[in-house]
Amino acid sequence: MNPAKILIELLLPTAIIITAWWAVPHVSELPPTLAGIKVYGVYFVIALGALLGICFRRGRIVFALITLALAYVSYGWVARDELAGFRAHTLFAALGVFVPLNLALLCIMPERGVFNMHGLQRSSIIAAGALLTWWVIKAPLTWVTAWAISPFFDSTLFAASPVRQLGWICLALGIGASLAVWLIRRVAIDISFAGALCAFALAMHFVGVPNAFAVYCAAAALVFTIALLQDTFRMAFRDELTGLPSRRNLNERMMGLGRHYAIAMCDVDHFKKFNDTHGHDLGDQVLKMVAAKLAAVGGGGTAFRYGGEEFTVLFPGKDIAHALPHLEALRSAIAEYKIAVRAPDRPAKPEPATRKQGAFREATSVAVTISIGVADSSAQLATTAEVIKAADEALYRAKNKGRNLVSR
Ligand code: GH3
Ligand code: MG
Ligand code: MG
Repeated sequence: MNPAKILIELLLPTAIIITAWWAVPHVSELPPTLAGIKVYGVYFVIALGALLGICFRRGRIVFALITLALAYVSYGWVARDELAGFRAHTLFAALGVFVPLNLALLCIMPERGVFNMHGLQRSSIIAAGALLTWWVIKAPLTWVTAWAISPFFDSTLFAASPVRQLGWICLALGIGASLAVWLIRRVAIDISFAGALCAFALAMHFVGVPNAFAVYCAAAALVFTIALLQDTFRMAFRDELTGLPSRRNLNERMMGLGRHYAIAMCDVDHFKKFNDTHGHDLGDQVLKMVAAKLAAVGGGGTAFRYGGEEFTVLFPGKDIAHALPHLEALRSAIAEYKIAVRAPDRPAKPEPATRKQGAFREATSVAVTISIGVADSSAQLATTAEVIKAADEALYRAKNKGRNLVSR
């Protein structure tokens, strides 16, 4: 777990929430020409996020935004008529339960798109909460509301908050669950659920402060929308299997290169045969291992997945002589790495008797090698395309000389 990465991912939702906190007292100072922001700002952010979510097929974000929209619209609608009555109390208590519940569930659930059976299932969960609330209000089931707003234990903590104990418990559980999912899965977009729930908790807590509910709801929607954009950006520039920057990333990086740089093209040896012998899944595992070694290359090199089993290492500001020892170290680190595999005749669970005899004690392992070709920018090679071509030709020479080699 990389603490720097964790901090960076936490930064954005935190910044949005702090900005919202700063904005609340200033919203009323908006000139009359900008008064529309107060009314339509939240809708605008939610609609923008939902539209992007539909375009990028991010169902979890779309349904989270629908939950937020429902919460915002329904509360505005009830609060307009009466704030202290049964309807408002019931709705407010329901928001404290169903919003964290829905958002935490959406955070836990895998991404399955928007317009399909999974989308229908997620909409049903949201609708069930809304219907239940409507039923309690319409029936009216006063005992349910009385239970929801009654204290469960003796505590002065948050006693002054309009959010009752049940609400705080659900909000805390929702934020905790989202944080846990984010820390376990290490998918950046998951933190937006915890961030949005924090913003929503503030919206509820400061519901009595003018404009606070709208500003914090907008902040929650903004946390989702920006996370969605970041995720899309990451998808375009990161390779999914290996986590390395992708070829598109390499292309953009090369456009901003200075005059001096070295490029290495790396290719896994006999990888088709490896896949045929050990299967595609183990092949994928090998690619991840190779990528991890490449990512750790020294000498200021950055590794990219060029495509398939081919990788590129870029050394900005460096020449071949500088890159060679680092590439050599990389080549040998990969060649020496042993990947454990189960022997084809080895049963998944050996009999205790045979295990005693030691028949299956030895783990079988496999190793792969890579060939590397390197070239640098020089007077003869003016463009990056020419340098890449030269590195490719060097790679071809390494393959011809017997593979598991670095060639220039
Ligand atoms: P050479 O030593 O000449 O490079 O031989 P090779 O077999 O590695 O070369 P070739 O280009 O013929 O085969 C590349 C193989 O890499 C084909 C494909 O099965 C495999 N491959 C490409 N991408 C992936 C991937 O994402 N996962 C797995 N498991 N295999 C892949
Ligand atoms: Mg190849
Ligand atoms: Mg190959």
